[in-house]
Amino acid sequence: MKKISILGSTGFIGTNTLKIISAFPERYKVVGLAAGSNVATLSEQIKMYKPDVVSVTSPALAAKLKDLLSSYPALPILVGQAGMIEVATYPEADLVISAMVGSVGLIPTMAAIRSGKRLALANKEALVVAGKLVMEAAQSHGVDIIPIDSEHSAIFQVFKGQRKEDVSRLILTASGGPFLNYDSKHLTNITPEEALKHPVWKMGKKITIDSATLMNKGLEVIEAHWLFNLPPEFIQVLIHPQSIIHSMVEYCDGSTLAQMSLPDMRLPISYALAYPERLKNDLPSLNLANLGKLTFFEPDFELFPTVRLAYQSLQEEASMGAVLNGADEVAVEAFLKKQISFPEIPLVIKKSMDKHNPRSIKDIEDAMEVDAWARQTANNIVNALKK
Ligand code: MG
Repeated sequence: MKKISILGSTGFIGTNTLKIISAFPERYKVVGLAAGSNVATLSEQIKMYKPDVVSVTSPALAAKLKDLLSSYPALPILVGQAGMIEVATYPEADLVISAMVGSVGLIPTMAAIRSGKRLALANKEALVVAGKLVMEAAQSHGVDIIPIDSEHSAIFQVFKGQRKEDVSRLILTASGGPFLNYDSKHLTNITPEEALKHPVWKMGKKITIDSATLMNKGLEVIEAHWLFNLPPEFIQVLIHPQSIIHSMVEYCDGSTLAQMSLPDMRLPISYALAYPERLKNDLPSLNLANLGKLTFFEPDFELFPTVRLAYQSLQEEASMGAVLNGADEVAVEAFLKKQISFPEIPLVIKKSMDKHNPRSIKDIEDAMEVDAWARQTANNIVNALKK
């Protein structure tokens, strides 16, 4: 029986992880759940999965949750960052699913690694903000990190049995989002509602907007750089609108290995849950004859400058990744609140990076300081754009 803690249990990855766990009650037991503010969903999850320990972000939310659980046996409800850390390091847990959205996931993810837990990682921002520190900690604590991000899960799967020194290229595929064929004039008028309609993948809000700006792919380039310890020039992005090939690795003899499936996040989640085994599921099998053809083309970095900004951050000192990420989180939020336009998202990120003097990062607290600086700076830029 594998015992599992989930950080971000009410989000898209968290809820889908729980659905998969429900299908295998003999294999998995939920021991910890950490959520943000969605206490209604969390209370349902508690009744269904009966964890030993849960956490929410504030005392007010804890009180609300307690009310919702009035007929349920008493349960420790933890609060804030300390609560998240306790769920992440709960002694009974064998596997921690790190599925919070944004840099808020960094500290609990790091705590899970330091306690020696196996980690299934969906929180790519933790690697963007402090990839070097996260990977060093994983190595020194002997922790396996199994990626949940579909591209990185693909690469992880086709890396098996290969030698890293034989790799010549990683090719991260991207659906390209809903605005692939737009021109710059039409990008200006995009509404949050349009941007939230992803043509292929079903995901949470932040990642859906990041997919529309291509920033998600930029973050994934950085994630791949840290996870697989390869320099940025080894990592390429290719638009593949059907999202059947989830990524590829080219080896020095010219062989390219790809992982394929229908685009459904339940697959990389279940791979991370069961690794090194695989779980049977009822997802439809891939019918290539029905699909007919798969297409690929180069991304337009003029129209979607975010990927270039991500590569640029990798050329600078480590703090630039934290700035890129913090500014993106603020800019996406401002776009969703209709405070800035769609093309102003990359503009806010670029201006924030321009104002930053990149430096090395000592520790996690230092990384969170840079994150706070980036948010403040990006907020100021958003406020100036609003006027
Ligand atoms: Mg992805």
